[in-house]
Amino acid sequence: MRSTVPFNFLFFLCLLTLPACQTASATIDISLKSTSTPFTPVSSSVTLTPTPLLSNGSTPDPTTQSTPDTMRFSLPTPGAQPVTAWRPPLYPVPRAASPFDHFYFTRPIAVDQKNWSSPDYRYGGIFFKPGAVHTGIDIPAELGTPVLAAGPGEVVWASWGLYSSDPTNKNDPYGLAVVIQHDFGYNDQTLFTVYAHLDQVNVVPGQWLQTGDQLGELGQTGFTTGPHLHFEVRLGADTYFNTRNPELWLVQPQGWGVLAARITDSYGYVLTDLDVTLLSEETKMEWTSRTYPALGVSGDEYYQENLVMSDLPSGYYTISFQYLQKTHEIKVQILDGQVTYFAFRGLNGFGSTPPPTEKIFFFFTPTP
Ligand SMILES: [Zn+2]
Repeated sequence: MRSTVPFNFLFFLCLLTLPACQTASATIDISLKSTSTPFTPVSSSVTLTPTPLLSNGSTPDPTTQSTPDTMRFSLPTPGAQPVTAWRPPLYPVPRAASPFDHFYFTRPIAVDQKNWSSPDYRYGGIFFKPGAVHTGIDIPAELGTPVLAAGPGEVVWASWGLYSSDPTNKNDPYGLAVVIQHDFGYNDQTLFTVYAHLDQVNVVPGQWLQTGDQLGELGQTGFTTGPHLHFEVRLGADTYFNTRNPELWLVQPQGWGVLAARITDSYGYVLTDLDVTLLSEETKMEWTSRTYPALGVSGDEYYQENLVMSDLPSGYYTISFQYLQKTHEIKVQILDGQVTYFAFRGLNGFGSTPPPTEKIFFFFTPTP
């Protein structure tokens, strides 16, 4: 289903005028989303049929591994990520400062403690084994920490066996889990959130929850060696083939924002496992993340990203990564409460125009 994405042609012409070393440290300023590409919502009449297996025969992995007999989970070693216990208050939900953003959910862990994604094992992470792709984010916290509904809706699952569809399966990778079907959707598609590895569940299917209602207690059931909440956002259907990056859906602390990027080669094929560094020009603090694959996880309907970093204080940053033995850099402004987007397309360099939205992510096979 992949097809060539038209790139910002004017921008490409500009790049052609740069010296021969253009791709090495070619630095430009973008401060955000171009408004030149009209947004066309994905047609709700298209039926998506999930492809049951990845091309290498593996399945998307809801937690860490695709099959119980190969379980070798260990928490990643924390890197040199700047972590502060204090954050500004969250924006109220829902928040959509631009027509492309959808910060519909609040944090599933209370704001008086760490309630953001573990930076070492984000959505799309493939650090544990090839083909086992992380379909959510992990928020480490103490056993028994209250887990809260990220938005209003009806409980549609509250037991073991979410992955295997067998409520008696205590070996299910999700452990004890809760799924909420929300009262609102996006682009005429239903939204679900998933809360996994719980120690206790306090709700039953059919129960309606308001934002912030406690649904359980944080635990370490299922595939995990340490207590944390595995949180997913599912769009269109309640399956692990329908996840989206939660960092594009969880509301930001006030004054903070999100970076999203689509980083591909010159032909538009996503570059995976690329380490991307973000350096704050003001504080010199550094963040790192890694691009994720086009299989097992899905890009946003609009951004079609393969890199997201949320919870970034607004301000100016230099982004850098290595590709084809060269360092590529771009300066961006992280906007308050919004998504800042950039694209990189191999030898064509950087741009800020997202791909056309009419393309369904190519992992899926649209059927008439
Ligand atoms: Zn997880």
